[in-house]
Amino acid sequence: RIVSPENVNGDENNIEKTLRPQTLGDYIGQTDVKNELKVYIKAAKQREESLDHVLLYGPPGLGKTTLAMVIANEMGVNIRTTTGPAIDKPGDLLSLLNELNPGDVLFIDEIHRLPKVVEEMLYSAMEDFFVDIIVGQGSGAHPVHFPLPPFTLIGATTQAGMLSAPLRDRFGIVEHMNYYEVSDLEEIVQRTAGIFQIPILKSGAHEIALRSRGTPRVANRLLKRIRDFAQVFDKDNIDLEIVRYALEKLKVDDLGLDATDIKLLRTMIDYYDGGPVGLKTLAANIGEETDTIAEMYEPYLLQIGLIKRTARGRRVTPKGYEHLHYPNNPNNLV
Ligand code: ATP
Repeated sequence: RIVSPENVNGDENNIEKTLRPQTLGDYIGQTDVKNELKVYIKAAKQREESLDHVLLYGPPGLGKTTLAMVIANEMGVNIRTTTGPAIDKPGDLLSLLNELNPGDVLFIDEIHRLPKVVEEMLYSAMEDFFVDIIVGQGSGAHPVHFPLPPFTLIGATTQAGMLSAPLRDRFGIVEHMNYYEVSDLEEIVQRTAGIFQIPILKSGAHEIALRSRGTPRVANRLLKRIRDFAQVFDKDNIDLEIVRYALEKLKVDDLGLDATDIKLLRTMIDYYDGGPVGLKTLAANIGEETDTIAEMYEPYLLQIGLIKRTARGRRVTPKGYEHLHYPNNPNNLV
């Protein structure tokens, strides 16, 4: 029977931590990114230098935070993690930098949301390991020079295009994280199931992988919910049947689309004749934030070819019409 350790001791946070791979060897998929990083990490260690600054970009849930932790671990240094919007003032950044030991990693998630004054202070910190900060007010105001230990900044963003050129140019290593292959997701599902001690058949893991929109976070979330169904229905393991049943209840379709994706496509077809329609208009129509659509929904729909971007907005493709079982719009030629 499926009774997970999480239900026994209720300590989901600890299990969540052990879920994170610790080394590049444990980190599944993203082969090109890993192969490059292996070289840069080895070279920096041989020279006994800190690793050059790293920018990771790609859709949410692909394991950017996890990878930053793996990099720090492989370098044998500590990591401090924060997010762009959490660093309000230059003083906040200074105190974060001040706490670093030589070679440590500072990880800033959502780095495109850093306030401008903080971003400008990062330039000298990244390039020459110092910051100048104005202390005092009025006629007593004067600059104070703070030297910093060498450190590695790892920035993560879902929207590389929103990063200013001066900031982007200061990252020596820039890695694009892609959606995961089904076989990699299947391995991630098997690994997570192993950690949670959930018996799972290959057919079940494969089906979850197929419907996880290329994203480990989604795969792990679906696995946890499917486990609940399996447990309540007294199943010995997670097989294809229970995966299909649970995903139907969770309203996740065979391409991994959820109720919001479907609402988005339907709105585009029913109200805008398939498009083109702007992101803001769409967001207002379906009651979601523009950023949520831009970061979480649109990239996957573009990736699997159900919508496309045009100069005048987004359009549903013939494949999108077909997926919703709508007759194709005669104006939709491409
Ligand atoms: P991002 O920062 O890109 O939004 P993230 O690093 O926060 O993503 P997580 O939400 O931590 O991604 O990923 C969810 C979980 O998926 C992690 O706790 C980890 O267990 C697992 N995971 C992510 N990527 C991998 C991977 N490449 N190999 C194995 N497990 C992974």
